[in-house]
Amino acid sequence: MKKYLIIGSGFSGAVIAEQLSKNPDNKILILEERNHIGGNCYTERDKETNIMVHKYGPHIFNTDNEGIWNYIQNFCEMIPFVNRVKSIYKSEVYSLPINLHTINQFFKKNLNPREAKLFIENIAQKNIVEPQNFEEQALKFIGKDLYEAFFFGYTKKQWGCEPSELPASILKRLPVRFNYNDNYYNNPFQGIPKEGYTSIFEKMLDSENIEVLLNTKFDESYDLSGFDHIFYTGPIDAFFNYKHGKLSYRTVFFEKHFSEDDYQGNAVINYADPEIPYTRIHEHKHFTPWESHEKTVYFKEFSKETEEEDIPYYPKRLSKDLEILSKYETEKEGLEKITFIGRLATYRYMDMHHVIGEALEIAKDFI
Ligand code: UDP
Repeated sequence: MKKYLIIGSGFSGAVIAEQLSKNPDNKILILEERNHIGGNCYTERDKETNIMVHKYGPHIFNTDNEGIWNYIQNFCEMIPFVNRVKSIYKSEVYSLPINLHTINQFFKKNLNPREAKLFIENIAQKNIVEPQNFEEQALKFIGKDLYEAFFFGYTKKQWGCEPSELPASILKRLPVRFNYNDNYYNNPFQGIPKEGYTSIFEKMLDSENIEVLLNTKFDESYDLSGFDHIFYTGPIDAFFNYKHGKLSYRTVFFEKHFSEDDYQGNAVINYADPEIPYTRIHEHKHFTPWESHEKTVYFKEFSKETEEEDIPYYPKRLSKDLEILSKYETEKEGLEKITFIGRLATYRYMDMHHVIGEALEIAKDFI
Protein backbone atom coordinates (compact mmCIF):
# COMPACT_ATOMS: atom_id res chain seq x y z
CA MET A 1 0.00 0.00 0.00
CA LYS A 2 1.18 3.54 -0.76
CA LYS A 3 0.16 6.61 1.18
CA TYR A 4 -0.18 10.01 -0.47
CA LEU A 5 -0.81 13.41 1.03
CA ILE A 6 -2.36 16.14 -1.12
CA ILE A 7 -2.55 19.69 0.13
CA GLY A 8 -5.44 21.53 -1.48
CA SER A 9 -8.61 20.31 -3.22
CA GLY A 10 -8.73 22.60 -6.25
CA PHE A 11 -8.31 21.07 -9.70
CA SER A 12 -4.63 20.17 -9.16
CA GLY A 13 -5.27 18.26 -5.96
CA ALA A 14 -8.57 16.75 -7.07
CA VAL A 15 -7.23 15.44 -10.40
CA ILE A 16 -4.15 13.91 -8.77
CA ALA A 17 -6.36 12.29 -6.11
CA GLU A 18 -8.82 10.99 -8.68
CA GLN A 19 -6.05 9.47 -10.80
CA LEU A 20 -4.24 7.89 -7.85
CA SER A 21 -7.49 6.51 -6.43
CA LYS A 22 -7.87 4.20 -9.43
CA ASN A 23 -5.29 1.95 -7.81
CA PRO A 24 -7.01 0.33 -4.80
CA ASP A 25 -3.62 -0.03 -3.10
CA ASN A 26 -3.23 3.75 -2.86
CA LYS A 27 -4.46 5.63 0.18
CA ILE A 28 -4.93 9.36 -0.33
CA LEU A 29 -5.40 12.03 2.30
CA ILE A 30 -6.34 15.56 1.23
CA LEU A 31 -5.96 18.55 3.53
CA GLU A 32 -8.19 21.48 2.62
CA GLU A 33 -7.95 24.68 4.59
CA ARG A 34 -11.38 26.01 3.55
CA ASN A 35 -14.70 24.57 4.64
CA HIS A 36 -15.37 23.20 1.16
CA ILE A 37 -13.64 21.40 -1.71
CA GLY A 38 -13.00 22.85 -5.19
CA GLY A 39 -10.77 25.84 -4.43
CA ASN A 40 -11.70 28.95 -6.40
CA CYS A 41 -13.85 26.93 -8.80
CA TYR A 42 -16.41 26.31 -6.03
CA THR A 43 -20.03 26.99 -7.01
CA GLU A 44 -23.17 26.91 -4.90
CA ARG A 45 -26.83 27.80 -5.29
CA ASP A 46 -27.63 31.24 -3.96
CA LYS A 47 -30.11 30.86 -1.09
CA GLU A 48 -32.39 33.71 -2.16
CA THR A 49 -32.61 33.16 -5.88
CA ASN A 50 -31.47 29.53 -6.35
CA ILE A 51 -29.10 30.77 -9.07
CA MET A 52 -25.81 28.85 -9.39
CA VAL A 53 -23.19 31.29 -8.15
CA HIS A 54 -19.45 31.06 -8.84
CA LYS A 55 -18.42 32.18 -5.38
CA TYR A 56 -14.84 33.11 -6.23
CA GLY A 57 -15.53 34.57 -9.67
CA PRO A 58 -16.88 33.00 -12.84
CA HIS A 59 -15.20 30.06 -14.48
CA ILE A 60 -15.95 29.30 -18.10
CA PHE A 61 -14.36 26.04 -19.08
CA ASN A 62 -12.48 26.31 -22.38
CA THR A 63 -9.73 24.24 -23.90
CA ASP A 64 -8.14 23.29 -27.21
CA ASN A 65 -7.34 19.84 -25.89
CA GLU A 66 -10.00 17.27 -26.71
CA GLY A 67 -8.51 14.83 -24.20
CA ILE A 68 -9.04 17.29 -21.36
CA TRP A 69 -12.53 18.14 -22.64
CA ASN A 70 -13.41 14.42 -22.62
CA TYR A 71 -11.80 13.90 -19.22
CA ILE A 72 -13.84 16.65 -17.49
CA GLN A 73 -17.03 15.22 -18.94
CA ASN A 74 -16.47 12.03 -16.93
CA PHE A 75 -17.65 14.13 -13.99
CA CYS A 76 -20.28 16.46 -15.42
CA GLU A 77 -22.50 17.32 -18.31
CA MET A 78 -20.92 20.30 -20.06
CA ILE A 79 -23.42 22.64 -21.68
CA PRO A 80 -21.84 24.61 -24.55
CA PHE A 81 -21.42 28.24 -23.52
CA VAL A 82 -19.87 31.16 -25.37
CA ASN A 83 -18.70 34.05 -23.22
CA ARG A 84 -19.53 37.32 -25.00
CA VAL A 85 -18.01 40.02 -22.86
CA LYS A 86 -18.87 43.72 -23.19
CA SER A 87 -16.78 46.65 -22.04
CA ILE A 88 -18.15 50.03 -21.00
CA TYR A 89 -15.84 52.97 -21.69
CA LYS A 90 -16.96 56.60 -21.29
CA SER A 91 -20.62 55.47 -21.07
CA GLU A 92 -20.50 53.59 -24.35
CA VAL A 93 -20.85 49.80 -24.62
CA TYR A 94 -18.29 47.98 -26.79
CA SER A 95 -17.72 44.38 -27.72
CA LEU A 96 -14.72 42.40 -26.45
CA PRO A 97 -12.27 40.93 -27.25
CA ILE A 98 -11.32 43.73 -29.63
CA ASN A 99 -12.95 42.76 -32.92
CA LEU A 100 -14.18 44.46 -36.07
CA HIS A 101 -17.27 45.75 -34.28
CA THR A 102 -15.14 47.31 -31.53
CA ILE A 103 -12.76 48.90 -34.05
CA ASN A 104 -15.53 50.30 -36.27
CA GLN A 105 -17.56 51.60 -33.32
CA PHE A 106 -14.58 53.14 -31.55
CA PHE A 107 -13.19 54.91 -34.64
CA LYS A 108 -16.67 55.58 -36.13
CA LYS A 109 -15.87 53.75 -39.34
CA ASN A 110 -17.27 50.86 -41.37
CA LEU A 111 -14.10 49.09 -42.38
CA ASN A 112 -14.06 45.58 -43.78
CA PRO A 113 -11.61 43.02 -42.34
CA ARG A 114 -8.78 43.86 -44.78
CA GLU A 115 -9.19 47.61 -44.31
CA ALA A 116 -9.34 47.24 -40.53
CA LYS A 117 -6.14 45.23 -40.50
CA LEU A 118 -4.33 47.90 -42.51
CA PHE A 119 -5.84 50.62 -40.34
CA ILE A 120 -4.63 48.98 -37.12
CA GLU A 121 -1.22 48.27 -38.64
CA ASN A 122 -0.92 52.00 -39.34
CA ILE A 123 -1.77 53.08 -35.80
CA ALA A 124 0.15 50.28 -34.06
CA GLN A 125 3.63 51.13 -32.84
CA LYS A 126 5.69 49.08 -35.25
CA ASN A 127 8.98 50.31 -33.80
CA ILE A 128 8.45 47.97 -30.82
CA VAL A 129 10.06 44.75 -32.03
CA GLU A 130 10.26 42.58 -28.93
CA PRO A 131 7.63 43.84 -26.43
CA GLN A 132 9.12 43.74 -22.95
CA ASN A 133 5.93 44.32 -20.99
CA PHE A 134 2.12 44.50 -21.11
CA GLU A 135 2.07 48.11 -22.31
CA GLU A 136 4.55 47.57 -25.13
CA GLN A 137 2.69 44.45 -26.21
CA ALA A 138 -0.57 46.43 -26.41
CA LEU A 139 0.97 49.40 -28.23
CA LYS A 140 2.57 47.07 -30.76
CA PHE A 141 -0.68 45.22 -31.48
CA ILE A 142 -3.46 47.78 -31.26
CA GLY A 143 -1.86 51.22 -30.85
CA LYS A 144 -2.29 53.93 -28.25
CA ASP A 145 -6.02 54.79 -28.57
CA LEU A 146 -7.47 51.31 -28.16
CA TYR A 147 -4.89 50.52 -25.48
CA GLU A 148 -5.78 53.58 -23.44
CA ALA A 149 -9.49 52.98 -23.76
CA PHE A 150 -9.80 49.27 -23.05
CA PHE A 151 -6.61 48.15 -21.31
CA PHE A 152 -4.85 50.93 -19.45
CA GLY A 153 -7.50 51.77 -16.82
CA TYR A 154 -8.82 48.23 -16.45
CA THR A 155 -5.34 46.78 -16.03
CA LYS A 156 -4.31 49.42 -13.48
CA LYS A 157 -7.42 48.61 -11.46
CA GLN A 158 -7.00 44.86 -11.77
CA TRP A 159 -3.26 44.66 -11.11
CA GLY A 160 -2.68 47.75 -8.98
CA CYS A 161 0.49 48.73 -10.83
CA GLU A 162 1.59 50.31 -14.09
CA PRO A 163 0.91 48.10 -17.12
CA SER A 164 4.55 48.71 -18.08
CA GLU A 165 5.58 46.68 -14.99
CA LEU A 166 3.53 43.64 -16.00
CA PRO A 167 4.63 40.79 -18.26
CA ALA A 168 3.55 40.92 -21.92
CA SER A 169 2.15 37.39 -21.55
CA ILE A 170 -0.91 38.70 -19.66
CA LEU A 171 -2.12 40.60 -22.71
CA LYS A 172 -1.32 37.72 -25.05
CA ARG A 173 -4.21 35.86 -23.39
CA LEU A 174 -6.65 37.99 -25.37
CA PRO A 175 -7.18 37.76 -29.12
CA VAL A 176 -7.63 40.75 -31.47
CA ARG A 177 -9.91 39.90 -34.38
CA PHE A 178 -10.62 41.49 -37.72
CA ASN A 179 -14.07 39.94 -38.03
CA TYR A 180 -17.26 40.12 -35.98
CA ASN A 181 -16.51 37.05 -33.87
CA ASP A 182 -17.06 38.19 -30.27
CA ASN A 183 -16.38 34.85 -28.57
CA TYR A 184 -14.03 35.80 -25.70
CA TYR A 185 -11.98 32.64 -26.16
CA ASN A 186 -10.33 31.05 -29.17
CA ASN A 187 -10.50 27.50 -27.86
CA PRO A 188 -12.79 25.08 -29.73
CA PHE A 189 -14.25 23.40 -26.62
CA GLN A 190 -16.16 25.76 -24.32
CA GLY A 191 -18.84 25.10 -21.74
CA ILE A 192 -20.26 25.41 -18.26
CA PRO A 193 -21.03 22.31 -16.17
CA LYS A 194 -24.81 21.91 -15.93
CA GLU A 195 -24.75 21.34 -12.16
CA GLY A 196 -21.89 23.72 -11.38
CA TYR A 197 -18.27 22.93 -10.53
CA THR A 198 -18.64 21.67 -6.96
CA SER A 199 -20.35 18.48 -8.10
CA ILE A 200 -17.37 17.78 -10.41
CA PHE A 201 -15.08 17.82 -7.37
CA GLU A 202 -17.50 15.68 -5.35
CA LYS A 203 -17.46 13.05 -8.08
CA MET A 204 -13.68 13.19 -8.51
CA LEU A 205 -13.13 12.67 -4.81
CA ASP A 206 -15.88 10.11 -4.27
CA SER A 207 -13.69 7.07 -3.65
CA GLU A 208 -13.14 4.73 -0.73
CA ASN A 209 -9.42 5.38 -0.76
CA ILE A 210 -9.68 9.19 -0.65
CA GLU A 211 -10.16 10.98 2.65
CA VAL A 212 -10.69 14.76 2.71
CA LEU A 213 -10.12 16.82 5.85
CA LEU A 214 -11.80 20.23 5.53
CA ASN A 215 -10.88 23.24 7.71
CA THR A 216 -7.36 21.82 7.98
CA LYS A 217 -4.54 24.20 7.26
CA PHE A 218 -1.22 22.63 6.39
CA ASP A 219 1.89 24.06 7.96
CA GLU A 220 5.48 23.06 8.60
CA SER A 221 4.59 21.28 11.83
CA TYR A 222 2.64 18.62 9.90
CA ASP A 223 4.34 15.20 10.08
CA LEU A 224 5.13 14.09 6.53
CA SER A 225 7.11 11.01 7.46
CA GLY A 226 4.31 8.46 6.95
CA PHE A 227 3.66 9.39 3.32
CA ASP A 228 5.29 7.97 0.20
CA HIS A 229 4.73 11.21 -1.67
CA ILE A 230 3.25 14.66 -1.10
CA PHE A 231 1.55 16.93 -3.63
CA TYR A 232 1.48 20.53 -2.53
CA THR A 233 -0.88 22.92 -4.34
CA GLY A 234 -0.76 25.93 -1.97
CA PRO A 235 1.38 29.05 -2.42
CA ILE A 236 5.05 28.15 -2.74
CA ASP A 237 6.20 31.01 -0.49
CA ALA A 238 3.85 29.86 2.31
CA PHE A 239 5.31 26.34 2.10
CA PHE A 240 8.72 27.72 2.97
CA ASN A 241 7.22 29.99 5.63
CA TYR A 242 8.13 33.08 3.54
CA LYS A 243 11.82 32.68 4.43
CA HIS A 244 12.95 34.41 1.21
CA GLY A 245 10.08 36.93 1.24
CA LYS A 246 6.50 37.12 0.02
CA LEU A 247 5.45 36.77 -3.59
CA SER A 248 2.91 39.34 -4.74
CA TYR A 249 -0.56 38.32 -5.78
CA ARG A 250 -3.66 40.29 -6.61
CA THR A 251 -6.82 39.22 -4.96
CA VAL A 252 -10.39 40.02 -5.92
CA PHE A 253 -13.44 40.57 -3.77
CA PHE A 254 -17.10 40.88 -4.63
CA GLU A 255 -20.02 43.06 -3.66
CA LYS A 256 -23.23 41.06 -3.97
CA HIS A 257 -26.44 42.70 -5.19
CA PHE A 258 -29.95 41.51 -5.98
CA SER A 259 -32.40 42.86 -8.49
CA GLU A 260 -35.61 41.90 -10.23
CA ASP A 261 -35.55 40.05 -13.53
CA ASP A 262 -32.39 40.97 -15.46
CA TYR A 263 -29.81 43.51 -14.28
CA GLN A 264 -27.39 43.91 -17.18
CA GLY A 265 -28.54 41.48 -19.88
CA ASN A 266 -25.17 39.72 -20.11
CA ALA A 267 -22.94 37.43 -18.02
CA VAL A 268 -19.91 39.74 -17.87
CA ILE A 269 -19.55 43.47 -18.43
CA ASN A 270 -16.13 45.06 -17.94
CA TYR A 271 -15.68 48.64 -16.81
CA ALA A 272 -12.68 50.20 -18.53
CA ASP A 273 -12.80 53.70 -16.97
CA PRO A 274 -10.23 54.11 -14.19
CA GLU A 275 -12.70 56.27 -12.16
CA ILE A 276 -15.12 53.37 -11.72
CA PRO A 277 -13.75 51.42 -8.76
CA TYR A 278 -14.78 47.93 -9.85
CA THR A 279 -13.36 46.06 -12.84
CA ARG A 280 -16.40 44.07 -13.94
CA ILE A 281 -19.90 42.91 -13.07
CA HIS A 282 -20.87 39.25 -13.30
CA GLU A 283 -24.54 38.39 -13.46
CA HIS A 284 -24.58 34.72 -12.61
CA LYS A 285 -27.88 33.63 -14.10
CA HIS A 286 -26.54 34.39 -17.57
CA PHE A 287 -23.97 31.62 -17.10
CA THR A 288 -26.85 29.11 -17.02
CA PRO A 289 -29.17 30.24 -19.83
CA TRP A 290 -30.81 26.79 -19.73
CA GLU A 291 -32.29 27.62 -16.30
CA SER A 292 -34.95 30.20 -15.59
CA HIS A 293 -35.03 32.43 -12.52
CA GLU A 294 -37.33 35.32 -11.70
CA LYS A 295 -34.84 37.34 -9.68
CA THR A 296 -31.20 37.99 -10.35
CA VAL A 297 -27.99 38.21 -8.37
CA TYR A 298 -24.90 40.05 -9.60
CA PHE A 299 -21.39 40.57 -8.26
CA LYS A 300 -19.33 43.72 -8.63
CA GLU A 301 -15.67 42.62 -8.78
CA PHE A 302 -12.99 44.70 -7.10
CA SER A 303 -9.30 44.02 -7.03
CA LYS A 304 -6.68 44.67 -4.38
CA GLU A 305 -3.29 43.57 -3.09
CA THR A 306 -3.37 40.27 -1.21
CA GLU A 307 -3.00 40.60 2.55
CA GLU A 308 -2.64 38.04 5.33
CA GLU A 309 -6.24 36.76 5.36
CA ASP A 310 -6.97 37.13 1.64
CA ILE A 311 -7.08 34.36 -0.92
CA PRO A 312 -4.30 34.81 -3.49
CA TYR A 313 -5.67 34.90 -7.05
CA TYR A 314 -3.36 36.33 -9.68
CA PRO A 315 0.45 35.91 -9.47
CA LYS A 316 1.88 39.31 -10.43
CA ARG A 317 5.30 38.00 -11.50
CA LEU A 318 6.99 41.37 -11.24
CA SER A 319 10.78 41.25 -11.53
CA LYS A 320 11.18 41.35 -7.74
CA ASP A 321 8.82 38.36 -7.48
CA LEU A 322 10.79 36.35 -10.00
CA GLU A 323 13.97 36.86 -7.96
CA ILE A 324 12.23 35.56 -4.84
CA LEU A 325 10.65 32.71 -6.80
CA SER A 326 14.02 31.47 -8.05
CA LYS A 327 15.19 31.09 -4.43
CA TYR A 328 12.15 28.96 -3.57
CA GLU A 329 12.66 26.93 -6.72
CA THR A 330 16.20 26.12 -5.67
CA GLU A 331 14.94 25.06 -2.23
CA LYS A 332 12.30 22.79 -3.66
CA GLU A 333 14.82 20.88 -5.78
CA GLY A 334 16.11 19.23 -2.61
CA LEU A 335 12.66 17.89 -1.72
CA GLU A 336 12.27 14.76 -3.79
CA LYS A 337 9.22 13.47 -1.95
CA ILE A 338 7.22 16.63 -2.65
CA THR A 339 5.70 17.75 -5.96
CA PHE A 340 4.69 21.40 -6.27
CA ILE A 341 1.78 21.62 -8.65
CA GLY A 342 -0.76 24.16 -9.92
CA ARG A 343 -1.20 27.92 -10.06
CA LEU A 344 -0.12 28.79 -6.52
CA ALA A 345 2.65 26.26 -6.03
CA THR A 346 4.30 27.15 -9.34
CA TYR A 347 3.33 30.84 -9.18
CA ARG A 348 1.89 31.01 -12.70
CA TYR A 349 -1.30 32.46 -14.25
CA MET A 350 -3.05 29.22 -15.27
CA ASP A 351 -6.48 28.46 -16.64
CA MET A 352 -8.45 25.44 -15.44
CA HIS A 353 -7.59 23.35 -18.47
CA HIS A 354 -3.86 24.00 -18.01
CA VAL A 355 -4.11 22.96 -14.38
CA ILE A 356 -5.99 19.77 -15.26
CA GLY A 357 -3.60 18.93 -18.11
CA GLU A 358 -0.51 19.31 -15.92
CA ALA A 359 -2.06 17.31 -13.08
CA LEU A 360 -2.93 14.45 -15.46
CA GLU A 361 0.65 14.43 -16.77
CA ILE A 362 2.20 14.47 -13.29
CA ALA A 363 -0.16 11.74 -12.07
CA LYS A 364 1.12 9.40 -14.81
CA ASP A 365 4.41 8.98 -12.92
CA PHE A 366 2.54 7.70 -9.87
CA ILE A 367 -0.15 5.42 -11.30
N1 UDP B 1 -7.82 43.28 -19.68
C1 UDP B 1 -8.07 44.62 -19.84
N2 UDP B 1 -9.34 45.03 -20.15
C2 UDP B 1 -10.36 44.15 -20.26
C3 UDP B 1 -10.10 42.78 -20.09
C4 UDP B 1 -8.83 42.37 -19.79
O1 UDP B 1 -7.17 45.45 -19.69
O2 UDP B 1 -11.49 44.59 -20.51
C5 UDP B 1 -6.43 42.86 -19.35
C6 UDP B 1 -6.22 42.73 -17.85
O3 UDP B 1 -4.92 43.15 -17.53
C7 UDP B 1 -6.36 41.23 -17.64
C8 UDP B 1 -5.77 40.67 -18.92
O4 UDP B 1 -6.16 41.60 -19.93
O5 UDP B 1 -5.64 40.78 -16.52
C9 UDP B 1 -6.25 39.28 -19.28
O6 UDP B 1 -7.66 39.29 -19.35
P1 UDP B 1 -8.55 38.03 -18.96
O7 UDP B 1 -9.95 38.32 -19.31
O8 UDP B 1 -7.92 36.81 -19.50
O9 UDP B 1 -8.41 38.05 -17.37
P2 UDP B 1 -9.06 37.07 -16.27
O10 UDP B 1 -10.42 36.68 -16.74
O11 UDP B 1 -8.11 35.92 -16.12
O12 UDP B 1 -9.12 37.92 -15.05
